[in-house]
Amino acid sequence: MGAKDNSVERSLMRRQSARMPFPQKTTARKKTLALRKLLRPLVGDSHRRASVDIHQYLRNSILANTLPANTILSQVEVAECLKVSRTPVREAFRMLQEEGLISAEPNYRCRVLGFDPEELELLYASRIMNEGISAAITVEGMSDAHIEKLSAIFNDMRRDEEQQDLDQWILDHRAFHQMLFSGANPKLQQRMYVDCQRSERYVYNSIQSGLVDIFRRAAVEHRDILQACKKRQATLVASLLTRHLSRAGIDILKALAPQWDPTTLRTAAGFMLSGATHLDDRQDHK
Ligand SMILES: [Zn+2]
Repeated sequence: MGAKDNSVERSLMRRQSARMPFPQKTTARKKTLALRKLLRPLVGDSHRRASVDIHQYLRNSILANTLPANTILSQVEVAECLKVSRTPVREAFRMLQEEGLISAEPNYRCRVLGFDPEELELLYASRIMNEGISAAITVEGMSDAHIEKLSAIFNDMRRDEEQQDLDQWILDHRAFHQMLFSGANPKLQQRMYVDCQRSERYVYNSIQSGLVDIFRRAAVEHRDILQACKKRQATLVASLLTRHLSRAGIDILKALAPQWDPTTLRTAAGFMLSGATHLDDRQDHK
């Protein structure tokens, strides 16, 4: 699991995803717009096109707001618009549902989901706990090769930032976080992998809302995490990761849902931080 799968996934995504620039603020579109005005046929050998391509195209359209919240997508219509068969569309819908981007409706239809502060808070609270504990386990057993790969991904992220290539940054960022939990229980890894991807729509939301500070800070936080990994400081990595994730979640909520009180998220972060401090104290007294 982990490193090898990640690289396969990354190269697949690199090949198949069209480069997506940092999204611009979009004006509200009328929800009544016909789907065919929003979706274009996919170029190439359409009928053989794999579900992963359709998924990538729909995913980008949702994240960039070309397909706004509450748009109804029917399998038949999407297949017609993209000039593909229904089977890969069904599979693409399943993947989008797993990422929390659409919800199932009757008659083979789905609805594009909008920003949901409750979902965001619970997502980040569970990431903090699962990924914090998993990082503590992973970092202790990290090989030099692991560290080299993590450094390489970190450098890739910096290059993506310089080139303003958000699409690639998202993939590299996902790979960076996955490396931090690659030593955890495989079933838990699968859950964290899904949560990681689910968070990505909020990253797009925050950019669309002009929250660029989060990215500047994230670059520093990723660097600190990498440094602590190099020194195999497992509990420090868990603390830094907790702060990184909770700050991101709280800042996005503050900007997009200022009335929302993220008690669960704050409590999860507080427990993780005090737990890491307690473990450090115990190690000091050994
Ligand atoms: Zn991050």
